[in-house]
Amino acid sequence: MRMRDHAQVVIIGSGGFGASTAYHLARRGLRDVVLLDRYELGSQTSPRAAGLTSKVAASELMVRLVHEAVETLAAFEATTGRSIGFHRVGAMRVLLTAEGESRMRRDAALAQSLGVKVEFLSADQAERMAPHFRAAGARAILFCPEDGYFHPPLVAQEFAAAAADLGATLLPGTAVTAIRHGGGHIRGVQTSKGPIESPVVVDAAGAWSALLADEVGIRVPMVPTRHQLFITEPLAGLEPHHPIVRIHEPSVYTRPEQGGLMLGGYEDHPLQIDMRAQPADFQVRDLPLDLGVLVGLAAEVFTHFPALRGARIREHRGGLPTMSPDGEHIVGPVAGLGGFYIASACNVGGLSLSASVGRALADLIAEGSCQPDLTPFSIERFRGRDLDPAALRDACARAYARKYTKA
Ligand SMILES: Cc1cc2nc3c(=O)[nH]c(=O)nc-3n(C[C@H](O)[C@H](O)[C@H](O)COP(=O)(O)OP(=O)(O)OC[C@H]3O[C@@H](n4cnc5c(N)ncnc54)[C@H](O)[C@@H]3O)c2cc1C
Repeated sequence: MRMRDHAQVVIIGSGGFGASTAYHLARRGLRDVVLLDRYELGSQTSPRAAGLTSKVAASELMVRLVHEAVETLAAFEATTGRSIGFHRVGAMRVLLTAEGESRMRRDAALAQSLGVKVEFLSADQAERMAPHFRAAGARAILFCPEDGYFHPPLVAQEFAAAAADLGATLLPGTAVTAIRHGGGHIRGVQTSKGPIESPVVVDAAGAWSALLADEVGIRVPMVPTRHQLFITEPLAGLEPHHPIVRIHEPSVYTRPEQGGLMLGGYEDHPLQIDMRAQPADFQVRDLPLDLGVLVGLAAEVFTHFPALRGARIREHRGGLPTMSPDGEHIVGPVAGLGGFYIASACNVGGLSLSASVGRALADLIAEGSCQPDLTPFSIERFRGRDLDPAALRDACARAYARKYTKA
């Protein structure tokens, strides 16, 4: 597409957050939306995700957002004519401890009260539904039939393409080198291909989002944190319609993929990446991976997935989700700099959630308000509570470690 010199809204970063925001702005009828990315569209952390959804969450705001997001993803092909490979296979959550069970009963009641279907399964029911799974040791198994998985590389790319179908301009290979502002308001961006004037700029630059915001004096308290998964070679009896199975206490998730089992999880001591220390041309594909982390997590769930013992690994991948110190997203406007919005701290759930967060952010930009109210995600909650870099890294590592056990 041709370079632009002005726009109503410039969105920096075409991962899930940025691409969905562009799509929803275009759907609202904004014709002058520019979505740009320094690399190929949707090429960094988003395509490396597992592609799971979860309608069960700990807060009303999150349940409302994931409920909407899953339904948007499920209807995406019917709405846009573009497939993201959504399979509504349902998701099990397996609780091994009394504490985990009581928390899950509370979350299940919350989800149910907000219109999400959930039920507790017996061990037999669960094993019939997921023949590769053994329930031994499970205290409770919650099932949400409305959850599912999608093909991760397609989500950001198809949101971007659908935005272009509605008139948005896509500019891959265009890096923002500076954010222009004056008089307390955004003026536009400087890019590797020239300036673009705009009264609204959205920083959806993923692992780079704090670096960009720093340029305009805004500290985004998040830490890019490595998260990995593997996919085994095909395993006998595993079918694409088998459900997602999450084992809570070790914080491990699985789903079928290409005839094999995908497994990912949240270790105790994640690798955190200082983006300032990376070369200027760093891409997520350059991230060092460590299969040992996943082998350790897999060993913790061998009793539940016996076929994992000795299974051969077909694919191993990882990316750089952004963790906040309180485990909540950072999305919305920034006080004191009119027209500047942030969509960061995906907390390893941003690809599925982008479907509703992008819609809400688009409403916020276009109308000044949105439902549900995203104020709990505002960066303002950190005002006056600046953590020094070591304390920030520590808090973000704690928010990540064994994530399913966090309230
Ligand atoms: C192994 C793994 C499993 C995961 N599983 C799930 C899951 O099951 N479900 C789920 O919902 N989420 C999952 N996630 C998390 C999910 O991938 C992220 O939440 C989501 O992709 C984050 O999207 P993003 O838009 O913030 O970042 P990104 O996809 O990284 O996009 C940011 C973009 O900004 C661009 N950019 C940066 N700086 C600039 C600049 N100066 N100028 C222009 N462009 C710039 C980058 O090139 C990049 O394309 C998983 C992640 C990993 C790694």
